[in-house]
Amino acid sequence: MKTMTCHQLGGPCDLAHHGESADDVINAQDRHLKEAEKAGDASHQPARDEMKSRWRHPKRSLGWYRDMKQAFADLPED
Ligand SMILES: [Zn+2]
Repeated sequence: MKTMTCHQLGGPCDLAHHGESADDVINAQDRHLKEAEKAGDASHQPARDEMKSRWRHPKRSLGWYRDMKQAFADLPED
């Protein structure tokens, strides 16, 4: 199990996401950003918009995913 924060995933806060894989924490961040948007949290809106555009343009976003997977791989186990 590893931990990545909202901040490490491109967001504005230090909320920690735990997961066994990079996909786990990316999905947790996606849920977190959706909830923030629903709650009207403007500080998370830019990160939310970026995440949305990543789902829309997966090929263009491969670099970001690679970076996140690498960052996750470099983290120590909890
Ligand atoms: Zn956050």
